[in-house]
Amino acid sequence: MAKIKRIGVLTSGGDAPGMNAAIRAVVRAAIHNGCEAYGVYGGYQGLINGDIKRLKSHDVSNIIQRGGTILKSARSTEFRTPEGRTKAAGVLRENKIDALVVIGGDGSFTGARLLIQEHDIPVVGIPGTIDNDLYGTDSTIGYDTAVNTAVEAVDKIKDTASAHNRLFFVEVMGRDAGFIALRVAIATGAEAALVPEVETDLTDLEHFIEKDYDPNKSSGIVIVAEGEKEGGAYSVAKKVAEAHPEYDIRVSVLGHMQRGGSPSAFDRVLASQLGVAAVDALMDDQKSIMVGIMNKEIVHIPFNKTIKHTKGLNPELLNLVRVLTTR
Ligand code: ATP
Repeated sequence: MAKIKRIGVLTSGGDAPGMNAAIRAVVRAAIHNGCEAYGVYGGYQGLINGDIKRLKSHDVSNIIQRGGTILKSARSTEFRTPEGRTKAAGVLRENKIDALVVIGGDGSFTGARLLIQEHDIPVVGIPGTIDNDLYGTDSTIGYDTAVNTAVEAVDKIKDTASAHNRLFFVEVMGRDAGFIALRVAIATGAEAALVPEVETDLTDLEHFIEKDYDPNKSSGIVIVAEGEKEGGAYSVAKKVAEAHPEYDIRVSVLGHMQRGGSPSAFDRVLASQLGVAAVDALMDDQKSIMVGIMNKEIVHIPFNKTIKHTKGLNPELLNLVRVLTTR
């Protein structure tokens, strides 16, 4: 493989806090290795449109603490087509960019893999999504911050719930995965976590709530993942309210606040490690892999594995919610 001299970096799919820290790490690591770094603005669509700018070290100063992504993120329908990817490859060649670092989720890596197969351009992926739903890494960039943001919000909801003896159903993000919901439930001492990976048994849930929640003298919190199969917090709350009209029920959907904000120290460090690891991997002639972290070690996972496999919830953590709500 010819020596890599110019490395492009883009953010794709949903944004996540810590993406800026990863961009900074990629740019600085590229320069450290004697390469030039190029920012691609607006994900794959920006690549197709040629929206590219050279990034020097000072261009990524003072961004490690900022949420969002200075490169912007976008979803591109055109990149899903072979013609779109041919245009993208042409833009990379015109700009003499030899390799690409893609910060995103499994959709972004699926696109990257096609770009590699069709045009032989080395791409290394960095897992950036609040959902933590990527196989091959214990944690994705943004997940820890999103959990912390949700925990802070639920703590506040608990204060008002307890003042009025209310039962709250709080919906958190996570798409089709329950990682955020499960962690938030444990960290806030919730009565239950309803996640897409486990079928919601409403009778079981009601027993659970009956045990913990007395509308005359206590409050309760149930954390519901947005991908929960009964249809989310509103739907579950409605069904419980029908069975228990005496309950004082409220619903809170936390929504996009979980995507924003300053990244946690954990996410900043993870993003820094993975950004450097991605450039190191390219220097080492790697292509078509995602860099991740498992048991505190940096790992290289082939794109085809991370795309194909699904990461499961830790059953010990699921059990923890039950054990810790014992009365
Ligand atoms: P998140 O988990 O935050 O949603 P993601 O990377 O999975 O991140 P997607 O919207 O699925 O987000 O994908 C981002 C972009 O990757 C898409 O807009 C598209 O351009 C490209 N992409 C996704 N799937 C494919 C595919 N099957 N073929 C080609 N390109 C794809």
